Amino acid sequence: MKMDRILPFAKILLEKPVKTGDIVVDGTVGNGHDTVFLANLIGETGRVYGFDIQEEAILNSSKRLDAEGLADRVYLHHIGHEKIGKIIPPEHQGKITGAIFNLGYLPGSDKTIVTKAETTISAVEQLLEIMAPEGMIVLVIYHGHEEGAFERDALLTYCRQIDQKTAHVLQYQFINQRNNPPFIVAIEKR
Ligand code: SAM
Repeated sequence: MKMDRILPFAKILLEKPVKTGDIVVDGTVGNGHDTVFLANLIGETGRVYGFDIQEEAILNSSKRLDAEGLADRVYLHHIGHEKIGKIIPPEHQGKITGAIFNLGYLPGSDKTIVTKAETTISAVEQLLEIMAPEGMIVLVIYHGHEEGAFERDALLTYCRQIDQKTAHVLQYQFINQRNNPPFIVAIEKR
């Protein structure tokens, strides 16, 4: 298949606005794969702020970052992404050029601990306030579980009403695949 699959396309979207030395956010650290990707993108002089409500996710990702020599440029927070505006210090606000939220549950872990529409939307709203112009928020939406379907509907309703003077909003989705594969909503602040 020549078309970009969902997870590679999420990275392509972030590679455009994010440069060496930038401030970026991983809203759902999980096993740390996206955190490592972002840490490589921003280089030694940039910073990644990572959030997860599960201690296990923070510990595993911390080990992964240590092993890859990337720990110094990543601040991991064992706290919900809805606290983003309080955690990111004023000197880094306005410099955030990218954020990713890989939603749903942590693979191989407790499937009842999932992201929720209300807190995801709260984090997106805060980011739209504090990001740099042309900053990109990538939401990877998993909607195969019950809460995921609810989160999908709420996020799509929220994203469709974002004023086009505030942000460009894109949906990238394979529409003929079975079993509710994940899809992307990307929001570029204007
Ligand atoms: N990006 C991860 C990776 O590369 O492995 C996968 C993330 S996993 C699909 C979703 C994660 O979101 C879980 O680890 C879960 O604990 C976390 N989560 C759920 N609610 C959250 C919240 N309010 N704030 C931050 N993380 C949350």
